[in-house]
Amino acid sequence: MAKQEFKAESKKLLDMVINSIYSKREVFLRELISNASDAIDKIYYRALTDENITFNQSDYFIKIDANKDDRTLKIIDTGIGMTKEELESNLGTIARSGSFNFKSENELKDGYDIIGQFGVGFYAAFMVADKVSVISRALDSDQAYIWESEGADGYTIEATDRKDVGTEIILSIKENTEDENYDEYLEEYRIKQIVKKYSDFIRYPIKMDVTESKLKEGTEDEYEDVIEEQTINSMVPIWKKNKSELTDEDYENFYAEKHYGFDKPLKHIHLNIDGTVRYHAILYIPESAPFNYYSKEYEKGLELYSNGVLIMEKCADLLPDYFSFVKGMVDSEDLSLNISREMLQHDRQLKIIAKNINKKIKNQLLSILRDDREQYEKFFASFGQQLKFGVYSDYGMNKDELQDLLLFYSSKEKKLVTLKEYVSRMPEEQKYIYYATGDSNERIEKLPQTERLAEKGYEILYFTDEIDEFAIKMIMNYDEKEFRSVSSGDLGIEEDNKETKELEEENKELFNAMKEILADKVKEVKASNRLKSHPVCLTAQGEISIEMEKVINAMPDNQQIQADKVLEINVNHDVFESLKEAYDHDKDKLNLYTNLLYNQALLIEGLPIQDPVDFTNDICKVMVK
Ligand code: ADP
Repeated sequence: MAKQEFKAESKKLLDMVINSIYSKREVFLRELISNASDAIDKIYYRALTDENITFNQSDYFIKIDANKDDRTLKIIDTGIGMTKEELESNLGTIARSGSFNFKSENELKDGYDIIGQFGVGFYAAFMVADKVSVISRALDSDQAYIWESEGADGYTIEATDRKDVGTEIILSIKENTEDENYDEYLEEYRIKQIVKKYSDFIRYPIKMDVTESKLKEGTEDEYEDVIEEQTINSMVPIWKKNKSELTDEDYENFYAEKHYGFDKPLKHIHLNIDGTVRYHAILYIPESAPFNYYSKEYEKGLELYSNGVLIMEKCADLLPDYFSFVKGMVDSEDLSLNISREMLQHDRQLKIIAKNINKKIKNQLLSILRDDREQYEKFFASFGQQLKFGVYSDYGMNKDELQDLLLFYSSKEKKLVTLKEYVSRMPEEQKYIYYATGDSNERIEKLPQTERLAEKGYEILYFTDEIDEFAIKMIMNYDEKEFRSVSSGDLGIEEDNKETKELEEENKELFNAMKEILADKVKEVKASNRLKSHPVCLTAQGEISIEMEKVINAMPDNQQIQADKVLEINVNHDVFESLKEAYDHDKDKLNLYTNLLYNQALLIEGLPIQDPVDFTNDICKVMVK
């Protein structure tokens, strides 16, 4: 049969798998064993519903066979096998979805997500082999096929003979080079070591013929080499082991083996619960967000096992959306094996497990926050936004659950702080928890609206995520302290309010005239008590802030909303003198100045100016006069 080419993108990807995706070559074995185990799982699962198939535990195993003479390493399984079409589609099209164009090659090099995303584990074989043959006979089929490939230039598929259902993968191990030792992958001790490290918990026996030196029968000191088939994995799933038997490395290996992520997990939680519902769980808090995390494509969920058998790959009901970043698995003896997805949703046991897990995750996060701030900040950089979405969504139902997990940048501490820390530092007379919104900390730092609060020595939280203010509106108050934007009408500083009233009275006519010039662009023009060095700023009355107006109006298909804007003028600024003079002597000038100031205030807020040409003409007028 003529050689078939891999699909175009596959070549590129194959090259990357071989050269850059995996940091260690030895993981090729983990990938192949994991596929073999999945294939046996599939038969097991079929046997549950199909009475023509009997599943005798002893008939199912994985066998590794290394042959130094012809440099082959075989991985044989008694799993479900592949038909010709499956060989073609599973192994012929690397990156089956065929749409990984959205990532550039360079990004891919350090974004390891691609393997889990598209399933390219099998191709890891090419890291150690210059030729790979796959002989497979599918369940329900009499005909076996052999798939062969020497790497990027394509593959062939031909009919062949194989007595049993299952798959045999034959790797022709590469010759040693100056920098790389490939011989080791044919060594018994090395294979055993790799299996122990990555695949020890696989549920089926991984067998290998092992040569042992044994005392010759009938002699006392004569030894002979005896070849013996041994099972080289312990077969006890890691989650059923005792925590004390396991090292961080074991958990990290399991994380990698399971393709939960390609980062190193930040923390793991291992639960062995023997309560109303008995279950084991291993949960991970990843360090970095998968590239598609904040998109619709991302699917949350934990693997769900019923007494060791995988029944669902992504059980979404086990995790609330706000903890959707958590990876891992749950195994419970109390769940029925062939429970359907619909039934699961109403399953009482599952609900109890989910509730429990939720609590454990939260406590784990709180303890990281308490004990390892640096690590928590890393976590928060990846997933903080999700927590804030969690506060906001479901009408704020989960705010109490989540508010202590939030961090915001503090004007005073110059670092991220919790709400609890903020409140604990508040001076007695400070009424509100202040916050300011903007694109970046640097820009907020410069906002005129913050001047007065900074002078009073009050701490301000900087909100740079679009979701921040929305989330805070849901929380409403923390420890009985209300949140207040630096741009809101009343900052709650008593002495200021009195003073402003007086100034307001004094300059009432001027402000009214300005308000008339601006017509319905603003609700009010008034004297400011929050400005110190700047001449002007915009604030908002009522519930809708200027930031919210910006965010909501930028969303597609959303009704446009308007904040009730107030133009505040710094009466201690020289500009105010010019305004007064213009009001007394030159109405055109007042018109010009008012529009200029209004437009400046818009610019500071990052809002568009209605007519930029008018604005620049106005500036020219001032310059020429
Ligand atoms: P993944 O396992 O992540 O889907 P792989 O590239 O490792 O990606 O494998 C691709 C597919 O090939 C698997 O999903 C499976 O359907 C099939 N496959 C691989 N190895 C075997 C095997 N030993 N037995 C049966 N099917 C297999």
